[in-house]
Amino acid sequence: MSQSLPHTVNNSLKTTLRRLWSFPGGIKLDGKKSLSNQHAITTLEVSRQLVIPLTQHIGHAAQPVVKVGDQVLKGQLLAHAEGPISAPVHASSSGIVSAIEERPIPHPSGLSAPCVVIDTDGYEQWLELSPLILPSTGEMQGIASLSSVQIKQQIANSGVVGLGGALYPCAAKLQSAQKMHTDTLIINAAECEPYITCDDVLMRTRPEEIILGILLIKKVVGAKKCLIGIEDNKPEAYQALVKAIRGYQQTISRYQREANSEAKIEVVQVPTRYPAGGEKQLIQVLTGQEVPTQGLPMNIGIICHNVTTAAAAYQAVFRGEPLISRIVTVTGGAIKHPQNIEVPLGTPIRDVLEHVGLNSNEVDKIILGGPMMGFALPSIDTPVTKATNCLLVSAKNELKTPPPAMPCIRCARCAESCPMSLLPQQMYWYAKARDLEKIQDYNIFDCIECGCCSYVCPSNIPLVQYFRYAKTEIWDDERERNKANIARERHEFHLERLEKAKLAKAEAARLRKEKLAKKKAEDKKIAQQASKTDTSGDARDAKKSAASHSDLIQEAIARSKAKKAQQQAQKKNTDNLTEAQQKQIDAANKRRRDNARNIARDNAGNDIQTEASASDDQDQ
Ligand code: SF4
Ligand code: SF4
Repeated sequence: MSQSLPHTVNNSLKTTLRRLWSFPGGIKLDGKKSLSNQHAITTLEVSRQLVIPLTQHIGHAAQPVVKVGDQVLKGQLLAHAEGPISAPVHASSSGIVSAIEERPIPHPSGLSAPCVVIDTDGYEQWLELSPLILPSTGEMQGIASLSSVQIKQQIANSGVVGLGGALYPCAAKLQSAQKMHTDTLIINAAECEPYITCDDVLMRTRPEEIILGILLIKKVVGAKKCLIGIEDNKPEAYQALVKAIRGYQQTISRYQREANSEAKIEVVQVPTRYPAGGEKQLIQVLTGQEVPTQGLPMNIGIICHNVTTAAAAYQAVFRGEPLISRIVTVTGGAIKHPQNIEVPLGTPIRDVLEHVGLNSNEVDKIILGGPMMGFALPSIDTPVTKATNCLLVSAKNELKTPPPAMPCIRCARCAESCPMSLLPQQMYWYAKARDLEKIQDYNIFDCIECGCCSYVCPSNIPLVQYFRYAKTEIWDDERERNKANIARERHEFHLERLEKAKLAKAEAARLRKEKLAKKKAEDKKIAQQASKTDTSGDARDAKKSAASHSDLIQEAIARSKAKKAQQQAQKKNTDNLTEAQQKQIDAANKRRRDNARNIARDNAGNDIQTEASASDDQDQ
């Protein structure tokens, strides 16, 4: 059984008055906090099996670094962060990895997600831890000795995420705040939703851890001011924080002087009005500044962290402990012993409910979160995760079951209650008509899903459910559009590549052709030059030839003349012929004469015959 917490308010703790502002809308609710905030935080025996989801943060799922059959120690890394907006996941107890598979996770749709399943061995054997600040070093000196990079890295490695519900990796947020030159750190300790008291009891029981965690965060972002905003329905928690700050005040002041930081940490009580714990609402109440539409607090030089996140940063840096457990409020009329329990992540919700005891006959709804922003849990066989701040098991008739919705009567009460100054009735019409473009004109993404509008609607219209549905539809459309855009870009890139290849081919062909033409032209030029050279040689040869031809003719003439002269000379020689030579000549002459006579006779005979034939022809 848990111990009772002190409830006395120490009025000797004076605090400075600070001007506060207000936010529009909001509603007064019955907090129901006393159901669970009467006792100190209890612990839970580790379950026989832990189911640890790989997505306990926004961003990509962590990537497993263990395999089935591996023996793991408590605090050992199971999966590393995948990308800058992701966080690692660690073993919440020692044991053996029995599966890495899809298991149902706590989600309104009842969907499954990849998980590492550990069959615990019951020894709770820790991995050797590596804190950045040893107990022997003074706390303030320890913080002063660390660089902001070291602190940020340790927080990132420890898997710390925003435990107020956003689940944004803490180190990534610190990194952005550093870049944006943030000068104000706001710690959200408002815890405005009814029934939930996990932050309240944490502040009351571990205020020093929170203050040291805040100093670590303050150092990283270099914020000059730090304001802790807490609703005025938590006087014990408020005093515990003030006391813790005073205990450290001397060393804090010295540290701040050394760090050239002028401001102290201030705890500021704000009026209890739902949803004062909304990030934008708390900033407005504490500073009077409005975060721009669809903007971030960093846009106005402010960073906001939850009080539990600060405690997790302390554990990471001072103890070297990764985020493997969280405080869960287990409350509601059907719970026998409502309380806050430190639960190892991955513990089945069924085990948590068995631990606190259920009045089974009384159970009406099992809600994860509070009655305003939580959702009905599809199954209790899902694990506790970093997002599980409250398990509300209501008894019958404890929570209002809205009667069937009626038509809107345009009373405008929803708009009056909206802390974001939206027009819920208009958004409702467009959500119902599924006009997703028009609904965005009404800034649906500024809706913090606080449920004020649904709560006040006299027609019982579940307005916030319409808005959640519309947001999901818009995101789905956006995802589809992105997918289509990526596909289109890929296709265009492919076409562009083909076109480039085609152009490159054509250019190569053109260059080849150009080269060929150039070569041809060069060859032609060379040939012409060669031909010119040949022509001049021929002329010379022709001249030579003409000259030699003329010489030959002259030579022939000369030879002819010489022959004639020789013949003349030989004729003269017939005068002195020998007798034999004379005889031969005479014989030859005689043959010549005889031949000539014979020929003449033959010719005369032929003429007589011809004449005779001619006279015959005339007679006839
Ligand atoms: S409160 Fe309900 S009935 Fe009134 S305007 Fe809004 S939606 Fe319509
Ligand atoms: S749920 Fe959205 S629209 Fe409704 S009151 Fe809250 S912020 Fe305004």
